[in-house]
Amino acid sequence: MKVPGKILLALLSLLPFHTGGSPAHSDELGTGHSSGHSCVGCVLVVSIIEQLAQVHNSTVQAAMERLCSYLPEKLFLKTTCYSVIHMFGSDIIKLLSANMNADVVCHSLEFCKQDTGQPLCHLYPSPKATWTFTLEKARQIVKKPQTVNYPRSGSSICSLPFLAKICQKIKFTIQNSVPFKDVDSDKYSVFPTLRGYHWRGRDCDDRNKMAYPGRRPDSWDAHQDSNCNGIWGVDPKDGIPYEKKFCEGSQPRGIILLGDSAGAHFSISPEWITASQMSLNAFVSFPTALTDELDWPQLSGTTGFLDSSSGIKEKSIYLRLRKRNRCNHRDYQNISRNGASSQNLEKFIESLSRNQLLDHPAIVVYAMIGNDVCNGKKDSVPAMTTPEKLYSKVMLTLKYLNSRLPNGSHVILYGLADGAFLWDNLHNRYHPLGQLNKDVTYAQLYSFLNCLQVSPCHGWMSSNKTLRMLTSERAEQLSNTLKKIATSEKFTNFDLFYMDFGFQEITEEWKRRGGQPWQLIEPVDGFHPNEVGLLLFTDHFWKKVTLQWPQILGKENPFNAQIEQVFGDQGGH
Ligand code: CA
Repeated sequence: MKVPGKILLALLSLLPFHTGGSPAHSDELGTGHSSGHSCVGCVLVVSIIEQLAQVHNSTVQAAMERLCSYLPEKLFLKTTCYSVIHMFGSDIIKLLSANMNADVVCHSLEFCKQDTGQPLCHLYPSPKATWTFTLEKARQIVKKPQTVNYPRSGSSICSLPFLAKICQKIKFTIQNSVPFKDVDSDKYSVFPTLRGYHWRGRDCDDRNKMAYPGRRPDSWDAHQDSNCNGIWGVDPKDGIPYEKKFCEGSQPRGIILLGDSAGAHFSISPEWITASQMSLNAFVSFPTALTDELDWPQLSGTTGFLDSSSGIKEKSIYLRLRKRNRCNHRDYQNISRNGASSQNLEKFIESLSRNQLLDHPAIVVYAMIGNDVCNGKKDSVPAMTTPEKLYSKVMLTLKYLNSRLPNGSHVILYGLADGAFLWDNLHNRYHPLGQLNKDVTYAQLYSFLNCLQVSPCHGWMSSNKTLRMLTSERAEQLSNTLKKIATSEKFTNFDLFYMDFGFQEITEEWKRRGGQPWQLIEPVDGFHPNEVGLLLFTDHFWKKVTLQWPQILGKENPFNAQIEQVFGDQGGH
C-alpha cells in the first residue's frame, strides 16, 4: 500500500522520487507507472493552487507563493516549491485564468498523458466541450513550441539541470533511511525518524553494542541498563539489583509487528491538501512524515508510544504490555513497509532484531492485511497472491521466525481485511479535494487512480461490483489459508494463533459510540484505516487475546508501582 506515498511525494514537491530503497518498494517500482504518479501529483498541486486562490480571493500567482510560503525549509521543500513555480508558474496562471481546471492544465503541461488506445484520465468531471477541443484551446493558450524541453510524463523533473542537485540530496537522505545492519544493536537508534525510535525502542547506549531494548539483563543491570528499560542499579537498602527485584520472574516480552502500511500507520494529513485548512502550522509535521516514509509508527495501533491526538483513549498493544509489566519498557519493533505483502516480506524480515540466546521472548504479530489482493493493475485479479503462493511464503516466514525468536515466543497471524467497506462507505462522499466545490467524490478519485493504474487497491477501490466481490473472495481464501496454517503447523520456539481482521466488529463498536464507518478511514487516500480505526482494532485484539489466550500477554507485574516510584518515566521513549 505504498502508492499514496509516492503520490504525495510527487504532489507537493512534484518530485517523483520514492521513499526508500527498501526492497518492498523497489519491487513495485519495477512495475513502473511513474507517469501516473506525475499526473496525480500535478493534478493535486494545481487543484491546491486553484483552491487557495479561491479561498483567499487572490491571484493564482499569490496562491502559488502562499503554498510555497507554508512549506518548511527542511528537505529543500520550500526551495523546490519556488523552483517549480519558476518553471511552470506562468503557464499555470494563463491556463487557470482561462477557466481551465487541473485536469486540463496537467494534460497541457504533459504531466498527464493519454496513452494510445487508453482512456483519457481525469479527476474532475469532463469539460462541457469535448476533450479534444478543450485541450487544443489550452495548447494555444500556453503556445508551447514543440522544442521546449518540459519533463515528459514518465520522466522525473529531477532530470532538469537546476533541480538535479536538490533531487540527489533528497534521494540520498531518504535512501539512507533504511538501515540493514549486521549487528542487531545497530538497528536501534537515538534518532526518531529514518527507521529510528519511532519504529523500535530507543537505544540507551549508542556506543555499547550489547545494550539494546529486549535483551535479558546483563548481571541484573547492577551497573548499567543493558536492556534500556530504564531499570538498573542496586537498591541501597538491601544491596539487591533493581532489575532482579522488580523483573525476575515477571516474564518480560516484546512486541514485534511484521506489517504493511496499515501497520506502520500510513497517513497523509488532510491539512496538507485542503486549501481552507492550510497554514504554516499544518506543514510543521511534514518533513518528519517524509523521513518516516509518510508512516506514523509512533502513533500506530501496535507499537505506538505517543498519546493519540484523535481524542480516543484506547492505547497501543505496546503501551498495554508496558502497563502490564513496566519491565517491558521500550521493547517494541515495527517491522512494517508500505507495500509489504506475504510475497515480499522476506526482503526486509532480516531487519527484525531478536537474539535467540540473549533476548526475552516476543509476541510477533503478522499483519499483511491487504497487499496480497491489492494492486494497481488494470487486470487486477491475476496479479493477486494465490492461496498456494501464500502458504509457501508464510511457511518460509515462520521457519525464519523459529530460527530467530527466543523460546517461549508467540506468533499471531492476522487475516486479511475485507475492503468492500471502502466503496460501500465512501463512494458518494466528497474527497477533501472536492469539498470546497462539491466536485470530487471518492468514486471519481478511485476511477482516476485506476485509469492511471496507480491505485493502491484497484480490486476494492472500484465501481465494478463483480471485481470487488472477487477481491473479497480471494482475501477470504487467503485468510482461510492463514487459519489453516495456524491450526495445523507446530514450531518449537513459539506457539501460533490466527485472528480474523474483524472490521465488522470494529464498525459496530464505533456505531455504538455514535460514529459513522467512514470516520475510520484515512480521508486523503480513502483506503487505510485511520488512527481511531487502528486503535479500535487494537482494543478488539486485546480483548480477544485476554479472553482466549491470556498466556500471550503474560502476568501483571506486582512491582509496577514501585518501578514507577523509583524510576519515574524510565527514561521516556
Ligand atoms: Ca534494565
